[in-house]
Amino acid sequence: MNFKKIDEVASIIIDSKYLIVLVGAGLSKESGIPTFRGPDGIWTKYGEPSMNGYQEFLNNPNEYWQAQIARDQEEAGPIAEMRRTFGVAVPNPGHIALAKLEELGILKYTITQNIDDLHFRAGNMNVVEIHGNRYKLRCIKCSLRINRSDFSIVAYPPLCPECGGLIKGDGVMFGEPIPSEWLDKCYEQVNLCDAMLLVGTSGTVRPAALFPETAKMRGAKLIEVNPLETSLSFLCDVIVRSSSTEVLPVLIEELSVRLNS
Ligand code: ZN
Repeated sequence: MNFKKIDEVASIIIDSKYLIVLVGAGLSKESGIPTFRGPDGIWTKYGEPSMNGYQEFLNNPNEYWQAQIARDQEEAGPIAEMRRTFGVAVPNPGHIALAKLEELGILKYTITQNIDDLHFRAGNMNVVEIHGNRYKLRCIKCSLRINRSDFSIVAYPPLCPECGGLIKGDGVMFGEPIPSEWLDKCYEQVNLCDAMLLVGTSGTVRPAALFPETAKMRGAKLIEVNPLETSLSFLCDVIVRSSSTEVLPVLIEELSVRLNS
């Protein structure tokens, strides 16, 4: 690990007034959560889900729910693998460091593309999950989110207790618009930040891939923590080419020393 780079990162963070973080699958991979794309990705192994998934849900919500119930019973396949890996995953030192960074008042907001709930379990509170949360359901009309475990389905398709709209899994499907209040929150934070940490994100999936450039154009400093070069690397002011589980705890130590001196 390059300690000189971590020193540079700490200096940028100490000099900043409003730090946010953009998180991708690379962070949770080290908790055993499989990625979707890439060599061991769920979609690489089992095939991509329908590119038209949201429209298919709208066309026939009952069929969507029947398929969900059937897949929940399967012993093999993508959903079974996700159930198994998500079921045992716990926050790793990278998640815990981000929660500590928020607790210290340094990290103001987390924009995550992960759906695994691990930021909340680590203790972060200011989080927007732009691809949804696997443990939640959502109304497509009023965007009410409900914990799956708190919602008992009495009739199909299940309807929103608040507005009567259709309920689906919270995870954003292909073809599904990201709820506007989530995007508004992202752009609010991107416009407020003067430093942005990019953790484990490849910068290929929109709209998240656009946030760093928007922040940069407004003068924010960009810091990348990623073992691999990404399509965002060329924009970054400092790059630490190591895994976030190694880098973030060391960074917290360095920041704590500086804050106490
Ligand atoms: Zn509703």
